[in-house]
Amino acid sequence: MQQHQIQVSYDEYPDTSSLNHQDAALLEAAREAIQLAYAPYSKFQVGAAARLSNGIILKGSNQENASFPAGICAERVLLSICSSLYPGIAVIDMAISYFNQLGTSNRPISPCGICRQSLSEYETVVNHSIRLILGGSQGKVFIIEKATDLLPFAFTSADMK
Ligand SMILES: [Zn+2]
Repeated sequence: MQQHQIQVSYDEYPDTSSLNHQDAALLEAAREAIQLAYAPYSKFQVGAAARLSNGIILKGSNQENASFPAGICAERVLLSICSSLYPGIAVIDMAISYFNQLGTSNRPISPCGICRQSLSEYETVVNHSIRLILGGSQGKVFIIEKATDLLPFAFTSADMK
């Protein structure tokens, strides 16, 4: 028997002002995207912004539905926008922020399980990792170098060969 370990590391910053200019700008773009969320049911508005390898910044927000499972998270809305407008172009960084109308918004949140799977697929397709910048409307910011770090043992196209 062999035992293995998987470690995940991330960088923690006290607030947006301690980020470099590029990361702070992308997190601000994600916060702007919060305003475009359609979240009448959860009241939990999420915004995401991606910086592509060609320098373009794109934004997405969560889009809910009266049929709850039809709703789509901000991260997957954004990845769909990226791949539709710029197919094959790598997403270098993705910032994610939120505003919780029913609670607090002062700590980072991370992508849900389905979004982690979609981020993993995107990384595979364009052969480039996605660096995540996670922050609330205020407070600490976490940076994770690779989105796939959040999804150990990911199921990928390689498993279907
Ligand atoms: Zn999600």
